[in-house]
Amino acid sequence: MTDACDVLVVGAGLAGLQCARDLQAAGREVLVWEASDDVGGRIRTDRIDGFLVDRGFQVLNPAYPAVRRWVDVEALALQTFGAGLRVRRRDSLAVLAHPVREPGLILRTLRSGLLDLRSVAGLLRWATPAFAGPRRHPGSDCPLRDALDRAGCSGELRRVVDQFLAGVLLEDEGSTSNEFALQLVRVFATGVPGLPRDGMQALPRQLAEQLTTPVRTSTRVASITPDGGAALVAAGESRIRARHVVLAADPVHSAELSGSDVPAMKGVLTHWFAADEAPSGADMLHVDGRAPAGGPLVNAAVISNAAPSYAPAGRHLIQASALLGPGRPVPTEDDVRRHAAELFSSSTAGWELVARHEVPHALPLQPPPLRSLQPLEGPSGLIICGDHREAASINGALVSGHRAALAVLGRPG
Ligand SMILES: Cc1cc2nc3c(=O)[nH]c(=O)nc-3n(C[C@H](O)[C@H](O)[C@H](O)COP(=O)(O)OP(=O)(O)OC[C@H]3O[C@@H](n4cnc5c(N)ncnc54)[C@H](O)[C@@H]3O)c2cc1C
Repeated sequence: MTDACDVLVVGAGLAGLQCARDLQAAGREVLVWEASDDVGGRIRTDRIDGFLVDRGFQVLNPAYPAVRRWVDVEALALQTFGAGLRVRRRDSLAVLAHPVREPGLILRTLRSGLLDLRSVAGLLRWATPAFAGPRRHPGSDCPLRDALDRAGCSGELRRVVDQFLAGVLLEDEGSTSNEFALQLVRVFATGVPGLPRDGMQALPRQLAEQLTTPVRTSTRVASITPDGGAALVAAGESRIRARHVVLAADPVHSAELSGSDVPAMKGVLTHWFAADEAPSGADMLHVDGRAPAGGPLVNAAVISNAAPSYAPAGRHLIQASALLGPGRPVPTEDDVRRHAAELFSSSTAGWELVARHEVPHALPLQPPPLRSLQPLEGPSGLIICGDHREAASINGALVSGHRAALAVLGRPG
């Protein structure tokens, strides 16, 4: 027998969960079917030998407008990173820190050797529009690289900016929308990113726990077929007739299910290591400021310096991330260790590998022009949401889920 429901949400990542929560709050009956064995989508955390290990290094910035609006950040007990970077230079490890948030590091920052007047002026010229408010000139967007060049951001400082942004945007060609990068700059300038006490997955779990009907996990939707004014959804042996279907799957599976083109995605490889001694006392990201860089890593960090809950007492957790992509060899553990040793200026000999996460589909591309809000209605009357419909971020996924809920609520009963 085929069951029936009002709204079925396919996918329990941030977008699907936010959508379901909004619909529930509006008094609608909503079910969520999730292919994986737990909620969270691209935000999952495993506990391994007492360490908390996220599936690919990522951080939560509490300054994202959607996070401020819909997430109980206090309940997540964020453990924040230091506001700055440790930079590997040819002969030294320099510090570049936020002058207001890390006043104790001002002198070291000024003496870093990275701040020549011309580069700083160029960087400020580039970043200033970030504070003029969101989406100022949607028509004037361009690739990030061109905007930095035009602003005159150059020298070693430019190299550091490029490395930092490569780790955030998961691409190092500067092909991302400059408007999108500026939105992130604004968020980084106004909020301090951190990691929840129970790992990044605590974020989607918080949303899921508010649903009165629990997410049905291990239920992969195989087809969604229009059926009169409704849709027939099949997953394994299960069939359900839903008046509305919100497809909140990841970009690749969303495209497969809706019959649209599979979008290009950016990937990342994160190695997680355990160590008895922290290779650095810093709670900041380490990046390579040299040209060319000494290896494949876009960043590395002693996670447990910023987030002590990620490691058992007396031990340390280190992450090291490299980009993945077409034509790019996948770095070996030896490549990663060699480069990490240079970034931290410390031996990696005693490090044990805790986990290795190869995430080829981490983020959808975000080229210029930054898309104006895209229609959510899919080819067969579906409502489609997810970061690929809005912006490639936690904020984008939450906003997209919210907009999908509004679209359902706006449909005739
Ligand atoms: C390694 C990494 C680092 C990141 N770093 C950051 C960061 O620092 N800051 C930031 O803002 N963003 C970051 N992001 C991006 C952010 O995590 C995503 O934008 C966001 O989580 C996407 O949420 P979503 O709901 O759109 O999609 P997803 O999280 O992909 O959720 C989709 C869900 O649909 C399910 N699904 C798929 N197919 C089916 C099916 N057929 N049936 C049922 N269910 C299905 C999937 O299993 C999944 O649970 C990072 C992402 C990764 C992977």
